[in-house]
Amino acid sequence: MTITINDIADQAVRATRMVAQVRGRMLAPEAVKSPPRFNASQVAALCEIDKNQVTYRLTKGDLPPGQVNASGSRREFTLSEARQWVQAYRSKAARPKGARAMTIAVGNFKGGVSKTTTVMTLAQGLSLRGHRALVVDMDPQGSLTTLFGILPDTEVREEETFTALAAGDEQTIDYAIRKTYWDGIDLVPAAPSLFTCEFLLPSRQMKEPEFEFWNVLNRGLESVRDDYDVIIIDTPPALSYVTVNSFMAAEGLIVPLPPSALDFASSAQFWTLFSDLALQLTGQAGAQKSFEFINVLLSRVDQSDVSAGVVRNWIGATYAEKVLPVEIPKTAVTAASSAEFGTVYDISKYEGNVKTYRRAREAYDRVTELIEQSITEYWAKERV
Ligand code: ADP
Ligand code: MG
Repeated sequence: MTITINDIADQAVRATRMVAQVRGRMLAPEAVKSPPRFNASQVAALCEIDKNQVTYRLTKGDLPPGQVNASGSRREFTLSEARQWVQAYRSKAARPKGARAMTIAVGNFKGGVSKTTTVMTLAQGLSLRGHRALVVDMDPQGSLTTLFGILPDTEVREEETFTALAAGDEQTIDYAIRKTYWDGIDLVPAAPSLFTCEFLLPSRQMKEPEFEFWNVLNRGLESVRDDYDVIIIDTPPALSYVTVNSFMAAEGLIVPLPPSALDFASSAQFWTLFSDLALQLTGQAGAQKSFEFINVLLSRVDQSDVSAGVVRNWIGATYAEKVLPVEIPKTAVTAASSAEFGTVYDISKYEGNVKTYRRAREAYDRVTELIEQSITEYWAKERV
């Protein structure tokens, strides 16, 4: 049987419809994602205080009291309320006056290494530490956008993405920023039409010699760097024009890397391709580029896989101090919740093994903590 392009187009329609249907069911009844809720112990943990201190502070009445259930036995806080508590108790961790958002790109030219998951969990983790994050989806596949319960194919128009900046229709990113279901995280969504940037950017460069095709996102973000504590960019698995823009806009770079031989080999290409290209740009226009940090994050680590140990050694020997001192385990928690378009932080109460959840949660928390340290150092250095 021959399969024509029209057959593929029909199949595309069916697949898109199915995704919309699945999402509709997952997020029923109103087909929007809802954030987790927090009990008093969880709020205390986020504030890094004892649960008794929460009870005591409640009597002062200066922080949101949450909602007590019908029987009066349990108190529950919304995400926004929990974050107000965190901001009160972690005020020392807040961005100092005069400091601006640190921009962090997550990249690897390979797909499926957990770039998108890293962006989402990092934004969620930092927001639970009281910070305000802007996440930018630069991948035409729009997986990050989907994690926010938004369908890139049908619910994001081309002019609501980075494309309008690339085309020169907009000068600052403000137009594309939207609020999300998660208090403390705003989103610049992606749509499949982001692909057009791969033609728009080089063709503008041909027509306007002064145009810096690699600097478009960086310039566009300039106006909002005072509004956020951190800006986190998700990139496609390719050295594309949008990827270059993402890296050039960033002060920090995180490269998720599973300890498999193939992924390790492809990571070598990543550095070669990127450094070749960056040097070319530097030569071309005198663009100076440096990073405050580049971190390799061991991701999807399968504890039972013996070969992982070997590759882990190669990674350590190659990337040395760049390797973050934490590993993200390959976990059923994210596998199950990704079916619901979520992450470990989206779960209010895990139905499975508590230990499984805790192991995953602790790893993501640790990554967040380490990156928060880098951000704090950046603020101290850059403060004007
Ligand atoms: P990328 O953005 O690099 O393509 P994703 O973040 O989309 O990677 O992750 C690829 C797949 O792996 C997704 O289905 C995701 O749910 C799953 N995944 C990510 N991290 C983990 C993990 N720690 N354990 C198990 N599965 C994971
Ligand atoms: Mg991705």
